[in-house]
Amino acid sequence: MKKRVLSGIRATGTLHLGNYLGAVKGMLELQDNPDYETLYMVADVHTLTTPFDVEKLRANRREVVLDYLAAGLDPEKSVLFFQADVPEHTELAFYLSSVVNIARMQHLPTFKDKVKQYPHHATMALLNYPILMAADILAYKAGFVPVGIDQEPHLEVAREIARKMNEQYGMDFPEPQRFATEGEYVPSLTGEGKMSKSVAGSYINLTDGLDAIRDHLASAPTDSGQGKVVPATGGVANLLTLVELFQGESQRKDYEKMYLGEGIHYQELKESLAQAIYKELQPIQAKRTKLAADQKYVDNVIADGAKRARALARQTVDEVKVKMGLG
Ligand code: AMP
Repeated sequence: MKKRVLSGIRATGTLHLGNYLGAVKGMLELQDNPDYETLYMVADVHTLTTPFDVEKLRANRREVVLDYLAAGLDPEKSVLFFQADVPEHTELAFYLSSVVNIARMQHLPTFKDKVKQYPHHATMALLNYPILMAADILAYKAGFVPVGIDQEPHLEVAREIARKMNEQYGMDFPEPQRFATEGEYVPSLTGEGKMSKSVAGSYINLTDGLDAIRDHLASAPTDSGQGKVVPATGGVANLLTLVELFQGESQRKDYEKMYLGEGIHYQELKESLAQAIYKELQPIQAKRTKLAADQKYVDNVIADGAKRARALARQTVDEVKVKMGLG
């Protein structure tokens, strides 16, 4: 039997380089490996865990599908669907929540960070985020989850839930493992933390043209370009990470040598990095423009994906109900 894979991205707008390198690249790699059966959703229900605008959410769900298809996710190889079209996820989440301790959820660093970020939006939906994510994965008994390193605490929760459901109710859930990519942590352009949609100035979108990429990089903080030690954190370190991800390790090493010697000219570094990023994004953008004009095709992909995903998820949820005494 093929190993199942599940992943998803929230519908908070067009994807950025962090989503692309940390999640989509891994999704593509597993999709193209015949040993895996891949299911990739737009995590629209997860979008309700932080403040959102109804009309923007409606539009953003489609933006993510377009980004998926443009980046190379292929409905012939993967099941592509909206999370909200498969109500089995939210149903299973409730059953799973019965084996989860409240304090465990409250102490998760990801929960605490989001409460700090949105102090007036500490909702039950936010607290339940990791349980819904576990349900997303376990609904398909998926063993692999291509996501960025920031999701590791949530995967640990999913493994704990799988173990408890197996022990207490005789389920056969696998303990899902993260499938890591080279870009599992894409740093912010601001020099602090990770690239994130919720931090202005931190990200480059997949839809950004060369000038927009140049502008974003222009505001990334730098230093004098020279020193005794190459910085391990901050603006320069983050730029070097992006160089490594888009131009390779040897290019990074060359810059490191320059830093310790004659000095880096950041204007040149940023221009060649902008060109390298654009070279990777340009074909994705060309494909996206074509897809955006074909509404019907995108609608069909999503309708078909929902049908296929639901059929699989329903089997698991029915099994859970029987094992828990509900059927
Ligand atoms: P989110 O937008 O929070 O739903 O994240 C969607 C996916 O993108 C998840 O797999 C994240 O781990 C991944 N991701 C988001 N930001 C980054 C980042 N800066 N570096 C690597 N992966 C990321």
